[in-house]
Amino acid sequence: MILWKKEGKGNWPPTFSMVVPLVLVIMAVGLFPLLLQGNILSGTVRQSQIDSRRSEVLNRCQILSSKMTRAGYFMPEYKDTALNTEMEITADLYNGRIVIVDKNYKITADTFDLSVGKINIAEEVIRCFQGELSNVYNKEKQYFAQTIPIYSDAPGHSIDGVMVVTASTENLVSIADAMEEQSGFLDLIVVLILGVAAVALSRLLTQPYRNLASMIDKVADGNMETAVEEDTYLETQRISEAVNQTIGKLRAADQSRQEFVSNVSHELKTPITSIRVLADSLMSMEEVPAELYQEFMQDISDEIDRESKIIDDLLSLVKMDKSAAEMNIAQVSINGLLELILKRIRPIAKKRNIELILESIREVSAEVDEVKLSLALNNLVENAVKYNVEDGWVRVTLDADHKYFYIKVADSGIGIPEEFQDRIFERFYRVDKARSRETGGTGLGLAITKSVILMHQGTIKLESKEGEGTTFTVKIPLTYIA
Ligand code: ADP
Repeated sequence: MILWKKEGKGNWPPTFSMVVPLVLVIMAVGLFPLLLQGNILSGTVRQSQIDSRRSEVLNRCQILSSKMTRAGYFMPEYKDTALNTEMEITADLYNGRIVIVDKNYKITADTFDLSVGKINIAEEVIRCFQGELSNVYNKEKQYFAQTIPIYSDAPGHSIDGVMVVTASTENLVSIADAMEEQSGFLDLIVVLILGVAAVALSRLLTQPYRNLASMIDKVADGNMETAVEEDTYLETQRISEAVNQTIGKLRAADQSRQEFVSNVSHELKTPITSIRVLADSLMSMEEVPAELYQEFMQDISDEIDRESKIIDDLLSLVKMDKSAAEMNIAQVSINGLLELILKRIRPIAKKRNIELILESIREVSAEVDEVKLSLALNNLVENAVKYNVEDGWVRVTLDADHKYFYIKVADSGIGIPEEFQDRIFERFYRVDKARSRETGGTGLGLAITKSVILMHQGTIKLESKEGEGTTFTVKIPLTYIA
């Protein structure tokens, strides 16, 4: 299992497997309540132990205090040592100390024998004389101090003295600690089990992605027929669909490339075959009349022109296929550009008495590649003349709004049957092969035109009716968008 991408310098932040964060999240989610519960539990045990020790000490000392009341502990005639002994036993039992303070705040007894005769005016003691018991817990030093009043046996039961008990909670804490240690070991085992479970679960959850990766790898190895299908998650389904779409496009591109190559070979071969036939028939004839010879040579020359035109168009098309970086953008007067194109085509139109009209609704200047756009528009106007009828007309209209300019090339020609309208922008596609051949068409003109318009982020639309005429509408942004 590869969790980290090891190779590659400058690989920061590192690329790691999805399993890593998944394992971490699962472990965090699993451990958090467990640790929290453990801590709360050991804290509760500690607290309840301390509480029970406190009430135990309080009970015992209250009994001792009652005994002192009954024995008249603070009477001058009291001489018995039994209560002092009991005091010492109690203090030892709780690993603590008991101090007795009389009405004058003077210490009269101390199980540690350290402060007898000294004065104790601690706040707790004073408050105890006022009848208020206090209990202070020192968590850091792990002991608590408790004050208990010792009442007089005389009527009125005034407070004759105060018993100050301090008792250690150290041995209690060590029990809680032992418990914590125990649970530490348990935690370790739980972490290990959770870790293994988290890895297994993460592997299971990410399995669809691994399946997907291995399918895509196969495709990348050139096996385009592999079906990429992983529907476990919506996400993997979406990736599968996107990959399949890409594969579909690649396949289509591959097929169109193959078709193009075969079309190119065919188109280039046609004039050569004609030349060969013409040359062969000339050679096979004896004593050829000069006129026939000349006629054949003219045909051969026409075929050579055709071959040369196909090659020129192919080169233009290849140029259009290159990146947009090849665009030579400048501010160009579109009116001027159209005037030049029409001027060039007018003599051809005149031969068939076709009227060529330019209608400029406004002056238009736009950011375009002049050479490329000129080629594209030239193809449109040339087609409008080529596929027209004798005495027909061609009307070129130029208009613009604040964002786009529009060029309409309308003709009174033969029109394009509806079923072919979608295909005429394809390379080498011709509705009437014979007519296109007659007029010197290569079937590449509209493909070049569409390419150029797309490079300018524009659109081209076609409206046509068989026998009535055709209108191409081109829409291009006034400012070039790279
Ligand atoms: P070609 O070199 O054959 O003219 P194009 O790519 O320029 O190739 O055009 C493709 C085909 O579309 C033409 O062969 C023709 O059948 C049809 N076509 C293009 N323009 C027109 C038009 N204005 N009127 C009728 N048919 C047209």
